[in-house]
Amino acid sequence: MSDYVGRFAPTPSGLLHFGSLTSAVASWLDARAHGGQWYVRIEDIDPPRCPPDNAPHILEQLHAFGLEWDRPPSWQHQHGARYQKALDLLVEKGLAYPCTCSRKEWREHTVYPGWCRNGPRHPERAKAWRFNTSRVPGTIEWCDRRLGHQHWQLSSLGDVVLKRRDGLWAYQLAVVVDDAFEGVTDVVRGADLLDNTPWQFALYRALEKTPPRTLHLPLMVASNGQKLSKQNLAPALMTDDIAVRQLLHRALISLNQAPVPSLQNAPVRHQLDAALERWSPDRLPGQDIILES
Ligand code: GLU
Ligand code: ZN
Repeated sequence: MSDYVGRFAPTPSGLLHFGSLTSAVASWLDARAHGGQWYVRIEDIDPPRCPPDNAPHILEQLHAFGLEWDRPPSWQHQHGARYQKALDLLVEKGLAYPCTCSRKEWREHTVYPGWCRNGPRHPERAKAWRFNTSRVPGTIEWCDRRLGHQHWQLSSLGDVVLKRRDGLWAYQLAVVVDDAFEGVTDVVRGADLLDNTPWQFALYRALEKTPPRTLHLPLMVASNGQKLSKQNLAPALMTDDIAVRQLLHRALISLNQAPVPSLQNAPVRHQLDAALERWSPDRLPGQDIILES
């Protein structure tokens, strides 16, 4: 049994679209090809943005595509205590500080300039909590499995928010705490998150945890050049059987995994078994994937 643990971590602000389906397929195949475990984490830390029906619907979509999980799904809205403990530890180490600035006040800067590092500038206001990137080693390097050697300076990214002024947890802290707590060894996700990874790796170090390996997948862009996302309303996937089979086949083509053409209408189980035998991350496209509409 391998020690590989992978996950798919959708934010249920919308349903799965072709781009997120492709990420789910890739992370599932990579986990299975390594003889590892795979599970789903629902990243519902921002309830106002996440209609309650979406998460169960996403799980149904994954099930329809044959992407079965080995552990019960994990729900971020239940993890507040975990996140608080991690934030407390960072505060104790002097690596997190309360910030009372509004976005408007620092709009002339590309990243938050760290004004509250030595104490909140407006103590009467509600506070967010930020990671003090000036107190941790500023160069982050690692090797991404598709994109190769990565070399980033935290100073160009700034002091990221860990807990928001409205009391909601921020993605950067939640994802690191959960991946560490849930034993994730391998993160396979879209390259739109590549520039978030330096903060995450710095947080792993600050929390004295081991970071996972990463494989950042090519982005899917619509033929008009826009990134496929919930924002531009990439059509949510249908889950009727025929559509599902064809979409899975198309997802495998997008991942450049050369699925056998005669399997394009085969049951998903059959397609996934065949894809698993051939799975080779080295064949993933080097560039963004342009989808014909
Ligand atoms: N929840 C994030 C998203 O939907 C992905 C998080 C991750 O894979 O690290 O974009
Ligand atoms: Zn501030």
